[in-house]
Amino acid sequence: MDPVDALTEIAELLERERSSTYKSKAFRAAADAIRDLPESQLSDTAGLRRRAGIGERTLSVILEAREGRIPAYLADLRERRGVVPGGELRRRLRGDLHCHSEWSDGTTPIAEMVAAARALEHEYLALTDHSPRLRVARGLSPERLREQLKVVAEMGGGGFTLLSGIEVDILDDGALDQEDELLRRLDIVVASAHSKLRMPRAAMTRRLVGAASDPRVDVLGHVTGRLVEGERGTRPPSDFDPEPVFAACAAHGVAVEINSRPERQDPPDELIAMALHAGCLFAIDSDAHAPGQLSLLDYGAERAERLGVPAERIVTTWPLDRLREWTGRERG
Ligand SMILES: [Zn+2]
Ligand SMILES: [Zn+2]
Repeated sequence: MDPVDALTEIAELLERERSSTYKSKAFRAAADAIRDLPESQLSDTAGLRRRAGIGERTLSVILEAREGRIPAYLADLRERRGVVPGGELRRRLRGDLHCHSEWSDGTTPIAEMVAAARALEHEYLALTDHSPRLRVARGLSPERLREQLKVVAEMGGGGFTLLSGIEVDILDDGALDQEDELLRRLDIVVASAHSKLRMPRAAMTRRLVGAASDPRVDVLGHVTGRLVEGERGTRPPSDFDPEPVFAACAAHGVAVEINSRPERQDPPDELIAMALHAGCLFAIDSDAHAPGQLSLLDYGAERAERLGVPAERIVTTWPLDRLREWTGRERG
């Protein structure tokens, strides 16, 4: 087995199970440290041991892989990963409209997210780093977003498209946290609430209706903000009246996100049923913060399939041309 492949796969599996980023970064660093080494240096175990970026655990992975074995650490992770019944709907997903890079609170450069998306055979991926107010997540100022757009424009090709985008904060009054000119220029605008999730029902309803009615918005992200498991603990869903929120999404062609992260599972089942009834579109997104998390789409697809969401209503099953027609639609 190729040692770089083994180290990279380990990093991705650790990311997918949302282990500490410190761990996955160590495996990515070791992969970088040996990627361009000639055979003479790769076979020099003492030399590898002294090399920056390589520790005891990563060294043993390299040695086992070079002996032609599946490293034990990798075998364990593969077994733990299990199989998610992605089914027919998972196979129909062509891309993902929500992910983060190290420009905000993701763990890797954009290029590594792109490589992982290509490996999953995505046709497109929207890079949606956070907006300025979300300081804890290093939200991008207008200047940094302009810089990022230049980088994004250079990526893609060979049947893969990196779409420009943002996960823009929905402010308390429903306004969006980024310059109008930038929001209009981006391919994909995901609008999400990250603060004051415990607002009174009427105010929260107004806030979400405001975002869903905003002509610059394409996707309403993790609409309830709930957390159902995981390191950050749990958090109940925000309180709002779903009817006018989903009515606004349906009227304005805004897709309701089915957020695939296991700790979010947002919206809850009963709200997906309501959005379906309201005539909404959906986007099944990973909200990946690391390359290995792009494959979390399996979980979102499994939920959508179980709840009977037709593929036709899911924008991420559409070919890119049709997706672009939708994002460029006339806004009411
Ligand atoms: Zn978010
Ligand atoms: Zn996000």
